[in-house]
Amino acid sequence: MIKRFINKLLGKPAASVRPSFGKRVEVPASVHKINPKLVDERAVNVVLTLKKAGFEAYIVGGAVRDLILGLKPKDFDVATTATPEQVKSLFRRAFIIGRRFRIVHVVYGRGREHEVIEVSTFRAYLDASAAEQVNGNEKTSRRALEGVQHAVDASGRVLRDNVWGPQEEDAARRDFTLNAMYYDPEREIVVDYHKGMQDAQKRTIRMIGDAAGRYREDPVRIIRAVRFAAKLNKLDFQLDKATASPLQECLPLLADVPQSRLFDEMLKLLQTGHAVATIEQLRALGLHKGIYPLLSLAVERADDPFVRSSLQDTDRRVGEGKPVAPSFLLASLLWQDVREAWARKTAKGKPPFVGLQEAIDEVFDARIGDVSGRGKLAADMREIWMMQPRFEKRTGNSPFSLIAQLRFRAGFDFLRLRAANGEIDEALAEWWQAFSTAPDYERDD
Ligand code: ATP
Ligand code: MG
Repeated sequence: MIKRFINKLLGKPAASVRPSFGKRVEVPASVHKINPKLVDERAVNVVLTLKKAGFEAYIVGGAVRDLILGLKPKDFDVATTATPEQVKSLFRRAFIIGRRFRIVHVVYGRGREHEVIEVSTFRAYLDASAAEQVNGNEKTSRRALEGVQHAVDASGRVLRDNVWGPQEEDAARRDFTLNAMYYDPEREIVVDYHKGMQDAQKRTIRMIGDAAGRYREDPVRIIRAVRFAAKLNKLDFQLDKATASPLQECLPLLADVPQSRLFDEMLKLLQTGHAVATIEQLRALGLHKGIYPLLSLAVERADDPFVRSSLQDTDRRVGEGKPVAPSFLLASLLWQDVREAWARKTAKGKPPFVGLQEAIDEVFDARIGDVSGRGKLAADMREIWMMQPRFEKRTGNSPFSLIAQLRFRAGFDFLRLRAANGEIDEALAEWWQAFSTAPDYERDD
């Protein structure tokens, strides 16, 4: 409210950030040079099925960006003129999900190997002022919003976003020009409304429309700007000046974003293979504080050798296509606090295990707070930490029961990280390495 009032005084429109819809350009294969071998067969199948049924359909978003840059996309999204119900009816295993943003998951394969293609219907561009007309009243209760397909709260945050529209509007509501291109795998053309292709060639990450307004509309875009700057840094991409310059002043807008969403975005920054580059970007852009407390801590501690090697390890593992767990990285980040609290407890005469338990409780209270739904993550972190003193016991049954523990691997990796950084004797880690890889009869020895 106050923000809006000030904006009025300054003569700024409340939230009219409607970008131009641009001009439709069809980029041929000779220019976009997408390697069809990098295009997921199942995504192609989804597109062809939709087209055969008479709808328009394209691969869209990050996958097109990555394909144009010669990178292998990690997942594929499809955008179409078909409504969620129409999409669902065309596939054997398809599920409509989401309320705020209804999309369809088309599922292929089962178990670990399964793959989900996310299909969304082209959405209309409704800026906050248009949405207010739909909404009518700023204080509208959630219940009153049930029937409304697009709605924003008092600060302009989108609560509901299910108004279908033409492709040009769908493109305009995306964030960066690089993320707003559509690929038709049948005709092998890229549809581009916002000069995304040119920006790809110029190595520029540019927000569609007025950057500050778009950050206001959805502050998470601030974090996304950092993420893409970090990810594309190795390809020499730079944030466009007008995209980068309002970042710092827009930071306070993140206060309106739910903690759980910020937490998820933080994990994406740290766990998608560009953790070290992300820290560098955050520093360079003056965003080292103000996104999420644990992230500020990561920036602060990134030069600590132990945290540094954990970040590098995570990047390396992602690069090799290995799984990474957020518990490991966060356990490394907070290990210093746990150790300090633990030392205080034992100095006061607490037995080691009890002292460690209590130290962990303290650190959770101080650093993690209440991010609901994080039960498993916290349990995993606790397990990694609690295993550490158990590695000291190398006789009797103890090693056998430790090695049988579900998260032994994570605990052991953590031990190795400690050894590599001189916190404990390398010999201990080597002993466990030998023990955990030895055949049963040798283990008994
Ligand atoms: P990644 O490779 O990390 O998945 P991505 O670009 O695919 O990157 P997603 O979060 O998967 O990112 O989003 C898919 C697409 O949806 C984006 O490319 C962009 O077009 C659009 N999008 C996602 N989040 C936003 C947002 N906050 N504002 C505008 N458009 C968005
Ligand atoms: Mg994606």
